[in-house]
Order: sequence, then C-alpha cells, then structure tokens
Amino acid sequence: MEKLDGKTALVTGSSRGIGRAIALGLAREGALVAVHYARNEQAALETVQLIEKDGGRAFTVGAELGVPGDIDQLFHGVEVGLEERTGRTTLDILVNNAGETSAGGTAPEQVSNEEYDRLFAVNAKAPFFIAQRALGLIPEGGRIINISSGLTRVANPSQMVYAMTKGAIEQLSRHLARHLAPKGITVNSVVPGTTDNGHDVFKIPEVREQMAQLSAFNRLGEPEDVADVVVFLATDEARWITGTSLDATGGSLLG
Ligand code: NAP
Repeated sequence: MEKLDGKTALVTGSSRGIGRAIALGLAREGALVAVHYARNEQAALETVQLIEKDGGRAFTVGAELGVPGDIDQLFHGVEVGLEERTGRTTLDILVNNAGETSAGGTAPEQVSNEEYDRLFAVNAKAPFFIAQRALGLIPEGGRIINISSGLTRVANPSQMVYAMTKGAIEQLSRHLARHLAPKGITVNSVVPGTTDNGHDVFKIPEVREQMAQLSAFNRLGEPEDVADVVVFLATDEARWITGTSLDATGGSLLG
C-alpha cells in the first residue's frame, strides 16, 4: 500500500524539469497523474512512459496556459482522462507548477506591456483559475500545491516581474488555505531555489559552479529535491500544514 494509492493528481508543466519529477514522485506513491504540457507533447509522453516503467499510471493533457480558453481546454482533457480511468472526475491533488521566466532576464526599464502581461497570465492568473475550476473536483482531504521561487526572498532586478508573479501565487496559497480549511483541503507553496531543469545553461561548467555556490550545500538543486517536498505535502502526513511556504532552496536564503 503506497501513500497516495487511489488518489488522482494534476501536475501542470510536467513534461519536463521539476514538474516531471513531481509527476514521477506522486505516481511512485500510487497516484494516477495527469501530465500536463503546453507544446512539448513528446516530452509529456516520455514522462508517462517513465511513470509506467516504474509501475505507475498517468496520461497526458495538452493546453497552453495564458491564452483564451486555456482553462476549459485543460479541464476537458483532465476530466475525460480521469473519467476513462476511474469512472469519476475526482481530483485529489493539484500542483500548479507550470511557469515561465523572463528569458535571459529583462531590466526593469525594458519590460514591455506584453512581457508583463504574459508572465502574469501564465504564472499568476492561470494558477488562480485552475484552482478555481479544480474546486468543483477536489474532495475533502485534497491538496493544492503552488510552486513559487526563492526570488520572492532575494532581489534580482532582471527577473522582477517574474518574482512579482511568484509573490502573487504565495498570496493565492495563503488566502485559499483559509477559504478551504473547512473542507479539509490544504493549500501551500513550495519555494525552489536554482534547480537543474535540464536546460542548456545548466550544462556550462562555470555556470553550474556559480549557481552551486548559491546553496548552503554548495551544489545545484535537482528536480527531485523539490519534488520530494511536494510529494510530502500531498500525503496525509502533511495534513496539519496549510497556508504556508516550504523552503526547498537548499539553504540558498540563509545569507
Ligand atoms: P521548465 O523546465 O522550464 O518546464 C516548464 C514546464 O511548464 C514545461 O512542462 C512546460 O511545458 C510548461 N509550461 C511553460 N509555459 C507554459 C504555458 N504557457 N502553458 C502551459 N505550460 C507551460 O521549468 P522548471 O525550471 O522545471 O520550473 C518549474 C516551476 O518551478 C516553475 O513554476 C518555475 O517558475 C519554478 N522554479 C524553477 C526554478 C529553477 O531553477 N528551475 C527555480 C525556482 C522556481 P512544455 O514542455 O510543453 O513547454
């Protein structure tokens, strides 16, 4: 008997990176996982294959977030997938993980209306409306876990708008936690630091070395370092934790 046997989960942005590790972790504990992606269907299918190889169950759902109709498209895929496999549309665990940054960074003076709106649409507005739609599917004992960023605690002007969106998602956790506590649903944020998500920049030795020094453990975060914290929050062991943020930065914020 695994800790999440009989549970269902949606992990947005689980085609790769931290989201993939979260999907794998939840499936390893027995959850049936909806593996969501935007454009990278092949990578999402690989996540499903990895889960199935491990003895777990998962299916893919494609929907670009931050565009009109995104929530409807996402939940159509999730509900059809759950119904086919369980005969119900109950969703026990929602992980709002999908997110975008200012690619390469943007100085505050250079931020355009388009970049600002895009980051807020994907990182803050979509998680809010995903959570809102999921409320009709999440039963007592359910979990909502929002992925924030250590940049909510340290200043990096070139990622200012990104950090603002992550500040918003932490407020979502706090206020929704109060609202949903009477239903026995917990809502929390997990705060990753620099985490090797497989992008090319993490293949450059000098960059790796520099980023490793940000952590008190003097190494880069791995997706599993963050995923294990999310999986913990999803289990019954975390039933007494709600409305808070869990640091998964490897001590990057210790100063
Ligand atoms: P990643 O490797 O860049 O993967 C992003 C995931 O989100 C992919 O599955 C991608 O789908 C999906 N996605 C991106 N934009 C989307 C959109 N508009 N609509 C739908 N799906 C979209 O990301 P990551 O580094 O693992 O980060 C995961 C989360 O952790 C994000 O919220 C990020 O802000 C946060 N975080 C990351 C770090 C870090 O150092 N990596 C640090 C702190 C916080 P496709 O594959 O289809 O594109």
